[in-house]
This record gives sequence, C-alpha cells and structure tokens, in this order.
Amino acid sequence: MTTLITGGAGYIGSHTVHALLDRGDAVVVLDNLSTGVRAQVGEKAAFVQGDVADTALVRETIAGHGVASVIHFAGSIVVPESVADPLSYYENNVVKSRALIQACVAAGIRNFIFSSTATVYAEDAPQPLAEGAPKAPISPYARSKLMTEWMLEDVSRAHDFRHTVLRYFNVAGADPQGRTGQSTPKATHLIKRAAMVALGRVPHLDIFGTDYPTPDGTGVRDYIHVSDLAAAHLLALDALRGGAGTTSYNCGYGRGLSVREVVAGVERVTGRPLPVREGPRRPGDPPTLVADPRRIKSELGWVPRHDGLDGIIRSAIAWERRFNT
Ligand code: UDP
Repeated sequence: MTTLITGGAGYIGSHTVHALLDRGDAVVVLDNLSTGVRAQVGEKAAFVQGDVADTALVRETIAGHGVASVIHFAGSIVVPESVADPLSYYENNVVKSRALIQACVAAGIRNFIFSSTATVYAEDAPQPLAEGAPKAPISPYARSKLMTEWMLEDVSRAHDFRHTVLRYFNVAGADPQGRTGQSTPKATHLIKRAAMVALGRVPHLDIFGTDYPTPDGTGVRDYIHVSDLAAAHLLALDALRGGAGTTSYNCGYGRGLSVREVVAGVERVTGRPLPVREGPRRPGDPPTLVADPRRIKSELGWVPRHDGLDGIIRSAIAWERRFNT
C-alpha cells in the first residue's frame, strides 16, 4: 500500500516522507522541484518529477506504484506573494488541486490528506481556535486553502472518498537527525529568520510590532515542531486506512509564545544576545493564533514529542548551519 506524497521534496512534505520511510511504509513522491529539494527526499522513496495537475502522470504514478492513499502538500505558501499575485495562487492551490483530486477519484483513491492552515479562521474567532471556529480567510493564500477544503468536502459527499484536513499553526524546527529542514532561501518565518541572525547571516531580527494587545506587546503564535506535524500525518493516514471518516484537525500545541519569548529562547540556546530591531506591525499579522489541539489528541492519539521551544530552536539552527555550508 504505497502512499503518494505531493510536494514531498518540500519542508513539511520531506519530513513526512522520512517519517513514513522510517516505519517501513512505501512512498512515492511527486514534486515539480519548483521550491523543493530532491536531496531532502529519503533515498528509499520513489521519486517522480512533475506537476500535480498533470493528470496523465498522476494516473500513471498511482497505477504504477499501487498507490492507495495520497497526502497533498504541494502548493504555494507565501502570504504576501499571494496578495501580489492572487491568480497564480488560485491556479497552483485550487485549480491544480482540483485536477489532482479528479485524477485521484478516477483512479479509485479513497484516502486523501490535505495541508491547510490556521489562517482560514476568522481573526476575531475565540482563541484557542477549535476546528469549528468561524472561517474567514483574508489572504488569497488562505482563501485558496479554504476553497480546496470545500472542494474536498463536496467530493467526499459525492464519491467513495474520505479525506482529512490538517490545519497547521506555526511550523518550525528541523529533523532531529539533520536529514531535512526548511530550505526556502527567501524564508520570512520567525524561527528560521532568528536562526539566520544567530549564525550571523543576517545582521538583526526585525520585531514586527510591539503594540499588540498581548502580554508583552509582540505577536503570539503556536510554534509546532515539524517532526510532530509529520507524526500527525502518519496518524491521520492510519485512521483513514482504518476506515475513519472525513474530518479536520488543528495541528498546534495549544501554547502561545510571543516574539520576545522566541528571541529569549534563541539567546538561551546560543548563550549570546540576539540583535533585534523593533519596528512597526507587518500588514495582515493577527495578534494571536493559538490552536485548541484537543480533537487531534483525543481522536488520533497524537502526542507531541518535540514541544520544547529550545529544542525547536536548536534543530532550526543546526539545519541552518548545515544547509548553508
Ligand atoms: N515576526 C517578526 N519578525 C520576523 C518574522 C516574524 O517579528 O522576522 C513575527 C510576526 O509578526 C508574527 C510571528 O513573528 O507575530 C510569526 O510570524 P511568521 O512569519 O513566522 O508566521 P505567520 O504567523 O505570519 O505565519
């Protein structure tokens, strides 16, 4: 029973590929390498370079590898880019997902896992965010994810097809064995940027906003180690294989950390002060995003194993050192 991983050469996809291979699952990766890195895919995974919208290639891959389940990571993920160029986000994330889902339905795939985002929730929804909280995505990126969620919902109703939506909070860190990590050269994420500053590759970390209605005035997020997120995909896959119905899960620890707390964490790990520059808010950033992870814990038995902030930071810095040398 092979699993097809779209975007398996990307950040979260490659961690999930390693986790599946580690437990002996058969995996085939489909990635167009537009942002993914071939070398970060485990050697035991079959690899097909191509696009998820290439229906003939998807059907051939499913038939050729005996694929029974699909985990769909491939897509565009940069919020400001989606604001500047919405149509390419609707193309990459919605139109191409539609083509992939159609090919999956035609090929008789019944289990499908989809990468979504905490930014589908309304900004004024009560925190911590439960799965049933109101949805009101703002950016084209988040809208493209919610549109695909809706498409999947309708497909699950119409066909013999079940899916799990995983809504990611702030994913950070890297594989503890150093096999993969976040390679995006233009990364804007806080812990990735902080790791770059800690290694002297960037002169200082910008703190975007110190006047938020949060305990220390800086933005609060729920940082989840990418290996714990990968583990959530394996549990969701096992549940679908075991006959579980269509559902969605928030993936976060339920713990909010401010930008200043992350900065303090980096200083603790490196033993050195981290140069920061305080500045205005970044447009579109909500004050707080924290998950209520009770559903994934109770229904899938998900247990975080890497939830210490210092460990997340340490693994991010270790990867950054390895990646750029
Ligand atoms: N942030 C920051 N400086 C940076 C990057 C991010 O102060 O260089 C803040 C950002 O305003 C937010 C938090 O860190 O409050 C997490 O931002 P990130 O870009 O990592 O993820 P997002 O929550 O935007 O998806």
